[in-house]
Amino acid sequence: MANTIQAIRGMKDILPGESSAWQYLEDTLRDVVHAYGYREIRLPLLEKTELFKRSIGEVTDIVEKEMYTFDDRNGDSLTLRPEGTASCVRACMEHGLLHNQVQRLWYLGPMFRHERPQKGRYRQFHQVGVEAFNMEGPDIDAEMLLMTARMWKRLGIRDVVLQINSLGTPGSRARYRDALVEYFSGQASSLDADSLRRLQGNPLRILDSKNPEMQSLIEAAPSLPDYLDDDSRSHFEALCLLLDAAGLDYEVNPRLVRGLDYYTKTVFEWVTDSLGAQGTICAGGRYDGLVEYLGGKPTPAFGFALGLERLLAMLATGAAALPDSSPHIYLVLSGERAVHRGMVFADELRNVIPRLRLLTNCGNGSFKSQFKRADRSGAQYALVMGDDEAEQGNVVIKPLRSESAQQVCAQSEAAGCLRDLLGLERLA
Ligand code: ATP
Ligand code: MG
Repeated sequence: MANTIQAIRGMKDILPGESSAWQYLEDTLRDVVHAYGYREIRLPLLEKTELFKRSIGEVTDIVEKEMYTFDDRNGDSLTLRPEGTASCVRACMEHGLLHNQVQRLWYLGPMFRHERPQKGRYRQFHQVGVEAFNMEGPDIDAEMLLMTARMWKRLGIRDVVLQINSLGTPGSRARYRDALVEYFSGQASSLDADSLRRLQGNPLRILDSKNPEMQSLIEAAPSLPDYLDDDSRSHFEALCLLLDAAGLDYEVNPRLVRGLDYYTKTVFEWVTDSLGAQGTICAGGRYDGLVEYLGGKPTPAFGFALGLERLLAMLATGAAALPDSSPHIYLVLSGERAVHRGMVFADELRNVIPRLRLLTNCGNGSFKSQFKRADRSGAQYALVMGDDEAEQGNVVIKPLRSESAQQVCAQSEAAGCLRDLLGLERLA
């Protein structure tokens, strides 16, 4: 066989059999963010490389080794977005969306990271991202966490735990950083290569290490809460009280740091044991310094991203029943007159019942082969029209999933009949 071209490693096709699960997931998440007043922003997939280097931080996994970066034909360095927050902030600044106003924004789409592909980890993956600007919290922090909890509830996802922590202000973080450098420098011989590299550039990231051999060292490291400034401490305590009042369970994880440089104060992750190693389905926090860092005015901000592939994997293991997207009706047509009339009749039905999913047989075929196709389509009913029915203005309605008898129906009454049978009033 000649060499056929395959997809790029880690970049998956979403096939027709999977797309209805994606649509269900996207629709549900969209409903939830809209219920909290978030508005969609659509952002380019490509940005100047500088944007990510500056916002995510030079000493991070993403910038050091995961970005798809190339020079375009003008010689500018561009990068396929590895995450959405940087683009969102860039767009908001560029279009004046942060001047004296709060913003609640969300977006959905592919992100690109050159990671080692494995279960739950791809090179093109999809996120829903949510960002809120110009609110200091902790009320908005709490509201966003409640919103994520509502997402899981709507999706029927259990077995997820909320972990929260506070990274403090840049000042308290700097003091904590010094303490970490001192501690880990004393243990330099036990550090793995990644951690050694991070020790000078970004020591907090050592806490984020997934290397099991590093864990006991990390356990014994200075604890972040001991270094928190008063402002951050009371912000965090107030957040906890809000979550308590709302009845949302959480764990305080003092070792929780996020991989990106721009976080301040609240950080959080929703984690699960049910997906193996890639257990974080949603992560985010407060990033009060980022807008200013990118050249804007000081602007408090809070956001998170959730990974759709991991959520889908949880849907597959969970109880939530996905809505059926197969056609309601398969229209069987036999004879030239029936084909002519059938095309028009099908569109008449679609006019009257806009959300009807109707598949018209194309390509002729015997009754037997058309019924086979009807059965394979997953349709509930076949509508059958031969030349006689076409002539007499009738159509036969034949149930495909039950033993009930077929009935002959005037074409003019078919829509009403089908609505009753399918319970489609709500769809009209
Ligand atoms: P991880 O620790 O798993 O590498 P991360 O800290 O890099 O995650 P974020 O940048 O915070 O992840 O992205 C938020 C969410 O996006 C993650 O919790 C995860 O659900 C999803 N995600 C991140 N990277 C990938 C990937 N390569 N493939 C699939 N989903 C991903
Ligand atoms: Mg990562």
